[in-house]
Amino acid sequence: MTTSPPTVAILGGGIAGLSAAWYLRKSGASPKVFEASDRFGGKIVTRELAGCLVEGGPDSLLTEKPWGLDLCRELGLEENLLPSNDNQRSFSILHRHALHPFPAGCKLFIPQKVTPILTTRLLSAGGKARMLMEPFLRHRAPEGDESLADFTRRHFGQQALDRLAGPLLGGIYGGDPEDMSMAATFPRLQSLEQKHGSLVKGMASMMRAAKARQRAGSAPSLFTSLTGGMQMLPDALVSQLEERLTANHRVTSLEKTQDRWRVDGQAFDHVVLALPARQAAPLIGQVDPETGRLLQEQTGSSSATLSLVFHRSEMRTLPKGFGFMAAHPLSSPLVGCTWTGNKFSGREAEDTFVCRLFLGGSHAAGMIESGEEDRLLSEGLKALRAICPDIPDTPAAHWVQRWPNGNPGYRLGHLDWVAKLEARANMLGNLHYCGSSYLGVSVSDCVKQARDLAASLGNVPEDSQG
Ligand SMILES: Cc1cc2nc3c(=O)[nH]c(=O)nc-3n(C[C@H](O)[C@H](O)[C@H](O)COP(=O)(O)OP(=O)(O)OC[C@H]3O[C@@H](n4cnc5c(N)ncnc54)[C@H](O)[C@@H]3O)c2cc1C
Repeated sequence: MTTSPPTVAILGGGIAGLSAAWYLRKSGASPKVFEASDRFGGKIVTRELAGCLVEGGPDSLLTEKPWGLDLCRELGLEENLLPSNDNQRSFSILHRHALHPFPAGCKLFIPQKVTPILTTRLLSAGGKARMLMEPFLRHRAPEGDESLADFTRRHFGQQALDRLAGPLLGGIYGGDPEDMSMAATFPRLQSLEQKHGSLVKGMASMMRAAKARQRAGSAPSLFTSLTGGMQMLPDALVSQLEERLTANHRVTSLEKTQDRWRVDGQAFDHVVLALPARQAAPLIGQVDPETGRLLQEQTGSSSATLSLVFHRSEMRTLPKGFGFMAAHPLSSPLVGCTWTGNKFSGREAEDTFVCRLFLGGSHAAGMIESGEEDRLLSEGLKALRAICPDIPDTPAAHWVQRWPNGNPGYRLGHLDWVAKLEARANMLGNLHYCGSSYLGVSVSDCVKQARDLAASLGNVPEDSQG
């Protein structure tokens, strides 16, 4: 007797929903994706701007997390993988209206060399001393979760938090380091602390292992994009999954009968919520108000990218390196900036220079949420020109991509929150979560969640297992 494959409704056609459909189909299930908008990819969005290739959301995969790269290879995109120009890899910190090179020899924000810390103008004498004392101090981790701010302060002091860890690590999540869960965001740093006591010593040991891999020729560049932009990834999934995808369908109703789910009236065995938590809340709240309430608890912060194309011939000097991040507390809407063509080749048209500004924090939230794109352009440009006066006052082209409440808050206790959601999902039966609100915000984290989900529902073929 043959049994029919389990049917799975996937709500949301961002990278989480699409890769869930990909891996579920591989595992023998029968998935169907519902996407509210007319395009797939969610926050992954690439477009052409004055002959240049620009990204409105992610610009790369962080190679340290291999799942996004694995998926690219499975989809036949190996030839299109585009490593960052690591020979130009350097970036700066914007502090008190000036750009300071990020101290050389730091891995993340953890110093591995003394001289660059002693000579940087980013830290005061006291700040430098506090950082360099780290290997000689005892670090007592608290019971349970800890914020990024407390963790960094315990090891390296307040200046290291405001000028190194906050911009670098807090910037990835767009969150407030005082309320960002270390357990959910950087568990590897916690493990280093547990194993070595000192992060400086722990990182040194990790770097030795990484160097050995490099010698064996297996260390790729830090960031990897795709020749046609990040959008190539969802596009490749769409072309493989076409018959499984429905665009322009915003799911509005969820019901649960004895052993089946109903999604806008259509029956399925399983439901995957590949939606931001707050967008999933009113839907699942129709079935289980307590789950709806839990999902509603997740906070989010707003951000925008402002892509600016300038004529190179109008610039006296061209910025070097990959870009910069702003020290905390932020004094303008400018959180950071990437010099796009320095980071990835093939992005700029002839005689153009492309910058991608990240706007966010309290100075930008109102403008992002109320859709004031002209103001985001003028304020972003003003903040950039205050630092780099050689940037012309009028771009040849620009694009503002807003993400109101688009960055999920990984607040203290985030993993307990996920565990509560999972416990309620088990109670309801055949309900699953996948995506940036839950177990990691990076594209690769979303792909990993999709893989794990498919593995938990069926047999993922050998070639997809990590
Ligand atoms: C500015 C920015 C820069 C970033 N940079 C990087 C980076 O460089 N590298 C990296 O790895 N990550 C980066 N990220 C993070 C990463 O891009 C996102 O976390 C990830 O793309 C989110 O994917 P997702 O599928 O979980 O959610 P989303 O992409 O938000 O997709 C959710 C989808 O659900 C749909 N939807 C909503 N409601 C409904 C409904 N009721 N019915 C049907 N569909 C619905 C939405 O239309 C959307 O398409 C960045 C994020 C931002 C905002």
